[in-house]
Amino acid sequence: MAETLDIIAPFLNEAESAVAFVGLLDRLEAAVGERFGMSVRKILIDDGSRDGGAERFAAALSGSWEIVRLSRNFGKEAAVLAGLDHSRGDMVLIMDSDLQHSMEISLTMIGELVENADIDVVYAQNDRREASWRRSQMARLFYKLINSSQRFDIPENAGDFRVMRAAVVRALISVRDKRRFNKGLFAWAGFNQKAMLYTPENRVSGTSKWNRLNLIAFSLEGFTSFSVIPLRIISLIGLLAALAGLAYGVKVLFEVLFYGISVPGYPSLMVAVVLLGGLNLTLLGLIGEYVWVTLSESKDRPVYIVRDVLHGDAAEQAASSK
Ligand code: UDP
Ligand code: MG
Repeated sequence: MAETLDIIAPFLNEAESAVAFVGLLDRLEAAVGERFGMSVRKILIDDGSRDGGAERFAAALSGSWEIVRLSRNFGKEAAVLAGLDHSRGDMVLIMDSDLQHSMEISLTMIGELVENADIDVVYAQNDRREASWRRSQMARLFYKLINSSQRFDIPENAGDFRVMRAAVVRALISVRDKRRFNKGLFAWAGFNQKAMLYTPENRVSGTSKWNRLNLIAFSLEGFTSFSVIPLRIISLIGLLAALAGLAYGVKVLFEVLFYGISVPGYPSLMVAVVLLGGLNLTLLGLIGEYVWVTLSESKDRPVYIVRDVLHGDAAEQAASSK
């Protein structure tokens, strides 16, 4: 039996490059069929686009396809999960729909999986050639911190761009974390994973949906869903501050008792109050983050809501002949 490949691509307001992306998908489908004898199904997820993108994609797509339209913008992490939920192929390729993920690397990754039965996942790792020094140092620090207390490592600069076997997909969709941090989940799932270095293409149109604030929020999500390290660091700092305060207090007491030195109170008091107050607030905020995650999990809302699903004819034929 010929194997099947599902291509999952989430999109948010990418109408401008819809036709170009479908072109890429068509070329990819042809190449996959020719080289590996696999049939391809395309699963696009409309993550609440407001630019009529779904219609554009639907008009351009051919062969076996599906567009899952979410009821609003749920974020890329949720959109990817929606795609995984709708997949049923032997292998799944996840890629961006903004043409930053090239066909060549997709083919290399698929080839790697086809040829090596003992590999379950091949992921693309951004070589960050274009990133500024400061940004890449920040990223390095982030991964160092987050990986410092775990039984599994989240690889640096690896995102959703990856190919995996159906067993891995089953593992991923069994995890229903409300606040999803895919990078963490991919690593958490385990399996034999292989990295492949790549340089992302430039965006042909539109802009990245990530701004600095978004990135910070996303990093916090990563921490709070995968690491207790920040809590421990802050507790340690708090402990050290308390010890320093204690030592200072002992010194002052000693001076008063034995040397009769009168202590100027106001400056040292200010320092202690501001320092400890600041520490308290930071720690409280951090605990709040974890509590917020707990709250989102316990509310037990679904990760995304589907508005409707558009089908290509061939998709229905394939489903009924299965
Ligand atoms: N995307 C999405 N939902 C979002 C944000 C982004 O589906 O809330 C899609 C977007 O259309 C693109 C992919 O996710 O196909 C990657 O987004 P983007 O290019 O903004 O991220 P970057 O490439 O800068 O990491
Ligand atoms: Mg992009």
